[in-house]
Formats: sequence, structure tokens, C-alpha cells
Amino acid sequence: MLKAMSRKWLALAVLLTSPLIAPQAADAAEPAVHLGPNESALVRFQLPTEDMFRDLVAEGADIAARPRTTAGAVLADLVVTGAELTTLERRGATAVQVIPTATASRGTSMKTLAADTLQFLQAYWWTSNGKTFLQTQVATTASDDPDVEITVTWRTADGATGSYPLIRFEDSGEYQYHWALPQPLPAQPVSVSATSSLGGRSRQITPASWPGTTPPATPAGYQKDFIDAYMTPTDISARIKRLHRQYPALVDVLDLPNKTQGYRRTAVATIGGVVVESVKFGDQGMNGVQVRTVDPGAPNRPLRVTYRDRVLTVSLATDAEGKPISSTDDVASAISVTYPQRFRAVVAEGGAGMPMPVTGPVVLDDGLQGTEVPQRPWTVQALRIGAVRDGSKIGVLAYSQEHAREWATPLVTLEFAERLLANYATDAATRELLNSVEVFVIPTVNPDGANYSFNDYNFQRKNMVNHCTGTSRDPRYRNSWGVDVNRNYAVGSYFDGYVGGSANCLSGTYSGTAELSEAESRNVVALAEAHPNIKYSLNVHSYGGYFMWSPGAYKAEGRVTLARPSIDEAKYFLDSARRIVGAIATERGTVTWPSYTGPVADVLYSAAGNSADHLYYDLGIVAWNFEVGNDRWNDATQEWEGVGFQPPFDEAHGESQEYASGLVELVRIARDRATSSPATRR
Ligand SMILES: [Zn+2]
Repeated sequence: MLKAMSRKWLALAVLLTSPLIAPQAADAAEPAVHLGPNESALVRFQLPTEDMFRDLVAEGADIAARPRTTAGAVLADLVVTGAELTTLERRGATAVQVIPTATASRGTSMKTLAADTLQFLQAYWWTSNGKTFLQTQVATTASDDPDVEITVTWRTADGATGSYPLIRFEDSGEYQYHWALPQPLPAQPVSVSATSSLGGRSRQITPASWPGTTPPATPAGYQKDFIDAYMTPTDISARIKRLHRQYPALVDVLDLPNKTQGYRRTAVATIGGVVVESVKFGDQGMNGVQVRTVDPGAPNRPLRVTYRDRVLTVSLATDAEGKPISSTDDVASAISVTYPQRFRAVVAEGGAGMPMPVTGPVVLDDGLQGTEVPQRPWTVQALRIGAVRDGSKIGVLAYSQEHAREWATPLVTLEFAERLLANYATDAATRELLNSVEVFVIPTVNPDGANYSFNDYNFQRKNMVNHCTGTSRDPRYRNSWGVDVNRNYAVGSYFDGYVGGSANCLSGTYSGTAELSEAESRNVVALAEAHPNIKYSLNVHSYGGYFMWSPGAYKAEGRVTLARPSIDEAKYFLDSARRIVGAIATERGTVTWPSYTGPVADVLYSAAGNSADHLYYDLGIVAWNFEVGNDRWNDATQEWEGVGFQPPFDEAHGESQEYASGLVELVRIARDRATSSPATRR
């Protein structure tokens, strides 16, 4: 779900020695701001256009603020390294100022300003692999002042103290709060307080322990670790089959009703500035078809197109001297008009009105590299697990790989499924869970995109359905086609006016032609609708280490989110989240940050038309989202490091183990609800 670039922007702001650089001191030849390649700073940039600001948002840049202090100028405050500074300057941004930290600016500017009121929204500490961390969020009442600086000071029981600056966080133009990445501390903090550059001072408070929960210990002999390698959709199908064969009393395999398009593309070639494409898929007899243009060798001939023996021949029109005179537009339209059932042709970008050369033949091809992938519509499967599988028990749904490139995610859901199955016979606690809960698992929602990710383009996010028209069907855009499955659902969608989906078929968040236009999203909804006992769901994505729930989208105007859960529901979401975060931490000490635990729209971004919102608002399911793959603390560099979509397998394996533990805790939560109240949806 996160874009590849976003982690690299999350650099820690460091205390800087650079003084504020006066604008008049910056002469034309000399950049106003210098940073070493690895030095980080909070820098104010003037951007050439509003579009660049939007691009930076789309790329996940760490935008600390968007000042409106200079009329007409597009300003953005970004935490950047020296390397990022250089990149931005190459893109046309001008660094105008290093923003000094609270400590550097003290002294002169505090005289006449009214103090603001500061309130801690979060103050949590935890330990992870022997290290203690503190994370805080603070809100100021001076919410319209982009320059207010907030500093948090902590103290431990033995009197050690320290402080660090917070970064202003705005979203969709609205102030949210000030925050910072988790800070390493020498020991558990016993108090924190915040001060602002306006003279505001918070109450001193005691940070709470996060997540503050521990799951029941698993007994000796508890079986786990069923993950040996990354798995392609074909591997996943084989695993599903094997689990069914091995545990017939506990598993049904459900074929979901909507077959996907399959790992298929039309066959295409570019000839003389014209893109010629087959109407059918390449594997349907169209790979290898040839296209050529010929000179008829006689004057005053009309443009003619013939198709014979798998060769498409375009005989160009000639003038009175016998010279070919057809244009690219003439040829493209003649091909489309003559054989509308077989071919469509468009002029490539920039090629309109050019003379069509005598050239070819060129060979049409679907361009797909995968040789082990069946080229036919794919049946997406779900495992239905439980001792009683008749809908009478409360149900939990775990589904993964809506986004193709998130290779670790099916490993999580398959490890989870097999732990339940393998331990049923020997572990009384597992037996009790599967006697009282039905578990549904869709390991790969988007197998076609996953096949493309494994074989052709590893950053493929979307499915394989190409809804583009005209020149955007040019094969040079092949890695940008497809629909973002997790923007194609029917609640809070792009089509309803929510932020975070796109109408552009080449966008990473393209929402499709309509709500639920795609087989992949319809399958998830169909499974949930067919099994009304499903009361909980977990949508497994990567990466970044988030644990989220609704609302997942807002409208841009006024940043109005989908309805907030009630106070009771919000408490239930958070209490349950703490249990699940605690279970994740048992495997290798990974603690999902409190700042990354909460509603999608608040902790990540607006994601119009995502599946969890559909399941929650439309079907009354308590619907969560994981982003597995938490940042890892590097003690040598004292920085958090992102893990990416396809980390070295050891890391993906670690993610599968810890998040499977989180899913097992979700089954315990469902069991607790089934035993405490009747199993009804809201
Ligand atoms: Zn995702």
C-alpha cells in the first residue's frame, strides 16, 4: 500500500548547527542551503508549480508543513537528506531556508506572542529487543501557525533527561498534530512534557506502556513455521490443495465466483508510428501475427488492408507518380475499420500526421515473460477452516495480496491457516478456537497481478485488466496498466467523491471503470456476503507496520471522513488492536507504533474505495488492515529503516511468523465475542 519512495523520506530531523540563512545573503551562483549527503534537515522549499507539490504528496514525501506565508509562492517544508536536497533541486525546487529547531531559535522571537495550549494526544513507551522507545503526539491550539515549534522533554526514574523536536503534520491542508518517530531512550520514561516556541507548556504526564498486552503462551510442541520461500500464485494453489488433502475434516476449499482475466495481454507491435494491437489476447492465437506495410508499385492506388495466413498487410495509397502518400492516421484508421473484430490501431504519441513508411514485418506479441504461468482465467480460492463449517459459528476472514507486489502477505495468511490446522489435534487451545470459530482465508486476491509481479515487473501493484483507451494503450505504458483492486470497492469510493483513488488508467491508484468493476474485488465482497457469520476481517498488505481500521477515506473539501465509529466501537477497535499488536510482538519483538495504529485516514492517507471500508460500513464487519513489514531500528545509525515490498526472504519469513501470531489473536478475539454475546452483526 505504501509507495516505494515513502520510507526514504522519513528521515529523522536532527539538531542542526546551520544558522537561518537570510534570503539576501543567497546570491544567484550559490545555493542557499548546504547539507552533507547523509545530513538531514527540515528545509523550506519553493516549488516551481502546484503540480510538483501534488507529485511530492503522491510520492510520499515527508511534508512537515505547507506554509502560505508568501502570496503566490508554492512552499513546502520537507525533512530531507543532502542527497534528497540535490534531487529536489534538479527537479526545479529551490531550497530557501533551513528551518531552525526550537533550541536554535530561542531567545529573540518570544516576546509578544500569546502562549498556545499544548495537549498530548499520545505518549507511549515500549521495549523492543532490549531497547526502550518513546513516541509522542502533541496538538497545539496555534493550529494555523505553520512556524510553531514543539519540543518534548522526557525524564527517566533515575533522573536522565533529554528532548527532541516534533514535526508538524498536516493532511489535506488541515492541521492534525505534531509528532516524531519513536525515540530511543536509555530507560523507561516516567514523565514527558512539551513546550512550544510560542511559550506554551503542556501538563507533565506519565507515558503509558504500549501495547500493554500479552497473548496466552503457546504450549510446548506448538507447531509453526510452514513458510520456506516466497510463493507464486501457482505455489499458493498447490498449498491450498495440500492443506485440503492433509486436513479433510477441518478444511473446505471455496472457488470464488468471479474468474479473473488471467495472466494475459493482447498482442501488440509498433510499426512506423502506429500501434497495432490484437482484440483477443496474445495466447488466443494472436502472438506471432505479423504486420507490414507495402508499396503497391503502381500509381493512384487506394489504401488497402488485407489479413491472410496470419499476416496483416497494409498496401499504402499512391499518388499519380506512384509515390506512397498514406499517413499514420490513415493507416491506423484503415486497420481498425477493416478488421474491427481482430485488430485495433492507434497512432503512437507524437506520430500524428506523419507519412507512413514502407516497413515491416513486425511481430505482434503479448510481451509476457512468465513461462510457467497458465494463460487462462484464474479461479481465486479461499480456505474455509473450522470443526463446524455450516455458518453457525462466528466467522473471521483474512485476505491478502490485493496488491500484487506485496509478496510477503500470502505468507502471513498461509502460515496462519496452517498453524490452526496443524495444532488442532495436539493443542487444546487451538482445538477450542476451531470448535467455536470459522476461519476464511483468501491468500491471494490478485493472482494475475502477482504473476506479472513475479515474472515481468516486480513493482506491479494492480491487476492485469487494461481499461486504457487511445494512446495510453501504447505498450511502453505496459507496467502502468491495471486497476488498483483496493480502490475498486463501493463505499467511500472515488466515484462517491472521496480522495485517494484516480480516474487515470495509468495511475497506481486507478479505481476502475465503476465500483466493483473488477472480478478481484467482487470476489471479496461475494465471500463476505455469502457468509453472514463473518464478523471480523483482516486485509493484509505490506509494508510499513500499520494496524488500521475505518474510516479509511475522506472528501477533500473540508477533509470530511466517512462516519467515525461510535465511542464504544472505537474503544473496541483500539482494545482489540492492542491485543493483536501484543501478539505480533511475541515473535521477534516487533512493536507496531502507536502513531501507526488507528483509522486509515488518520495514520496513513485517504484510500477511496478500499475493501475494509466496504466490509465495515456495508456489511457490519469489524474490518482491519495490516501493513506488515515494520521499520527496523538500526542501532548503528540510530535510524528506522524501511523493509520494502520484497525484502530478502529472511525478513519476509519473519513478517509471516509475527503477523500470523496477530491473526491467531484475532481468532481469540472472535471467540471471546462469540462466548460473550449473540453472534449478530451490528
Ligand atoms: Zn497494499
